[in-house]
Amino acid sequence: MPAKEGSQQVDCTVSVVGAGTVGLTVAWSLARAGARVTVVDPDPGSGASWVAGGMIAPYSEAWPGEEPLLRLGIESLRLWAPFAEALQPFADGPLITARGTVWLAVDDGDAADLATATAAVGDAALFWPMRPSAAVRAVPGAAPRIRAAASVPEEIAVDNRLVHRALLAACDDAGVVLRRERVEDPHGLPGDAVIVCAGSASDRIAPGLGIRPVKGEVVRLRRGRQCLPPPTVTVRARVHGRQVYVVPRADGVIVGATQYENDLDLAPRIGPVVDLLDDAFAVLPSLREYDLIEVTAGLRPSTSDNVPVIAPLAGRVFAATGHGRNGILLAPVTGARVTDMVLNQEVHAWS
Ligand SMILES: Cc1cc2nc3c(=O)[nH]c(=O)nc-3n(C[C@H](O)[C@H](O)[C@H](O)COP(=O)(O)OP(=O)(O)OC[C@H]3O[C@@H](n4cnc5c(N)ncnc54)[C@H](O)[C@@H]3O)c2cc1C
Repeated sequence: MPAKEGSQQVDCTVSVVGAGTVGLTVAWSLARAGARVTVVDPDPGSGASWVAGGMIAPYSEAWPGEEPLLRLGIESLRLWAPFAEALQPFADGPLITARGTVWLAVDDGDAADLATATAAVGDAALFWPMRPSAAVRAVPGAAPRIRAAASVPEEIAVDNRLVHRALLAACDDAGVVLRRERVEDPHGLPGDAVIVCAGSASDRIAPGLGIRPVKGEVVRLRRGRQCLPPPTVTVRARVHGRQVYVVPRADGVIVGATQYENDLDLAPRIGPVVDLLDDAFAVLPSLREYDLIEVTAGLRPSTSDNVPVIAPLAGRVFAATGHGRNGILLAPVTGARVTDMVLNQEVHAWS
């Protein structure tokens, strides 16, 4: 593969298994650092990366006991601005669809949960308590019966499908070769290094990683001509003990997400999806008038502590997988860490 003008070729060939957002980010990062990269995937974009809400939201995802994940997420959020800027020329539209998150809590229990999440972040400057009236002003169309609210101005949201398509184009531009084949054994692939990035299928390819699939559904709604515009911030809400989020897109919103274990069937389940929509309508009643475009399910590649596995395995084989509910957020930091690991033999500790 010829090196791109301006990039220095290094003497390293790499095979990447999986062309989801994580695999393509890893491939792009390695190729930009000068490696010769081949990505192998029978169906690029068929995994969770196509389904995700696209929130780049480490603070909103924070929970007591998950501090290593929070730290990794904050590092990746900081990498997202230069990552999006470098990727934008390969995209069909604006990658970033929202700046800032507003949290809404409907009852006293929801307000207590919001306080717990805020405490987990630990830095009040990043997770601002807001008066409910101010939150309703920040989110036009929000229902007035809000018990508590908070704002997280640093977070963003991206159109995950545009990101995935842009990564395919950026990889192609950087000389990455895409082979549409299914991998059975990563040890059989050529290269100085092989990186397993096969999302929820990673454990089948590299047994013992401890990745389990966790099903989740999202609903896509499109704004009709008579409807209020979508919010310009991501709206996250706790509604009588349940969680819902509404993530802006150019033409509407994504409402997410359900979560269940031990279900590999990608057919959406009607009951949980109806609950999700009920909760979204409870905080943003104007969404009732939107068009229902799509209900999609995906499998989050999850680990027991929700921290991804970015590590050497055996011989030439490495893993970069297990990103659970945060794979879009964590893609840039994963690309950077794998590049360090493969080209500079640098392995980072998490805690
Ligand atoms: C409902 C839902 C909402 C989410 N919302 C968010 C969010 O708002 N923000 C966020 O950061 N994250 C979110 N996530 C999580 C995020 O989508 C995942 O963590 C991320 O997409 C994982 O990316 P990946 O590339 O590792 O896996 P995937 O996107 O699943 O890609 C894996 C790829 O591996 C390929 N593959 C599988 N087996 C083989 C094989 N044998 N050989 C070759 N290739 C193979 C597949 O074809 C696929 O293309 C959400 C997930 C779900 C399900």
